[in-house]
Amino acid sequence: MENKTFIPYGRQHITPQDIDAVVQILQSEYLTQGPAIARFEQSIANDCNAKHAIAVSNATAGLHIACLAAGLGTGDWLWTSPNTFVASANCALYCGAQVDFVDIDPNTYNLSIAELERKLIAAKKENRLPKVVVPVHFAGQACEMEKIKALSNEYEFLIIEDAAHAIGGAYQNQKIGSCAYSDMTVFSFHPVKIITTGEGGMVLTNRDDLAEKLVRLRTHGITRDASQLTQESPAPWAYEQLELGLNYRMSDLQAALGESQRRQLDAFVAKRRQLAARYDALLKDLPVITPWQHPETDSAFHLYVIRLKAHDRLSVFQHLKSQGIGVNVHYIPVHTQPYYQKLGFHWGDFPEAEAYYHSVMTLPLFYDLTETDQDFIVSTLKNALR
Ligand SMILES: *Cc1c(COP(=O)(O)O)cnc(C)c1O
Repeated sequence: MENKTFIPYGRQHITPQDIDAVVQILQSEYLTQGPAIARFEQSIANDCNAKHAIAVSNATAGLHIACLAAGLGTGDWLWTSPNTFVASANCALYCGAQVDFVDIDPNTYNLSIAELERKLIAAKKENRLPKVVVPVHFAGQACEMEKIKALSNEYEFLIIEDAAHAIGGAYQNQKIGSCAYSDMTVFSFHPVKIITTGEGGMVLTNRDDLAEKLVRLRTHGITRDASQLTQESPAPWAYEQLELGLNYRMSDLQAALGESQRRQLDAFVAKRRQLAARYDALLKDLPVITPWQHPETDSAFHLYVIRLKAHDRLSVFQHLKSQGIGVNVHYIPVHTQPYYQKLGFHWGDFPEAEAYYHSVMTLPLFYDLTETDQDFIVSTLKNALR
């Protein structure tokens, strides 16, 4: 059977309601810095049971100002997982800080808690403990946050969750974004992620001091808030730049789309979980490893990754691609990127992440993926593995 249309690994689902929401903004007074932003922020904060949510232009920008708000700077270290998109690590470099990685757990593909603890003990002796740790909820499955929080109490680092994959997921029955075990959490609304605003992101926190900084940093370091102004009796037009910030704002067009998308979040995640469970069943007797789920987590399933047990990944990948199936690989370990190799990292530094990388393949998973598509993907994979 030939499949005529290309099946991507991920794509957005846009409804007529989503389109109406954006058109309404186009016909309104404010295209940016209007009321749609605060509305979307409040909705996400409520959904996640977090005190503050700050919308930003994308998750990379969110990670950057989260690091700035955490006080990360020259001489500081940020640790993250090598099995992630480069943005999780680059945010440290933007701040003049240095990056190191914590190798992954071979079951969850998230950063390993045992490895984190081992590395913290060693770093303490060398007096180079990290100021910030960025756990990445890979594929939508939460890291073991309670354990990371316990280590942060002992070794005094801040925790910024990279939850780009994970909106709608849960850990210990609390929504990702609650910041129950972290200082800040960052979501991405890129179109391949769970919900989209085109480009967009959100930083959540329960700390008032961090929220105040994040709001300022997203808009040039400027404030108009009377309580923050340094002048005794400010003019009615007064605004003050208190630090060097950026223009990382989301527009009202994006926020309105986000608000409309967020109403569909539960349906999106339910469908992803249902399709993931169906993949699990269909792949049961094939020589592949399906995603193991930690009992305390309820993944949002941004990605469905399999590991090939004994086959040549390249030829299997090429066969699926030739049949119009948009397989992908998540992730090339960050430390193996040429830029990071120039910083002194080498192949061999994080063996679990590398072994995982050599065997992994991402299968298509998105809201509009049909069971017919899924059957075609599985039968094509079966042929490739024969
Ligand atoms: C997509 C992604 C980002 C960056 O998100 P943008 O909104 O595109 O900036 C960061 N971290 C991870 C793990 C991602 O997958």
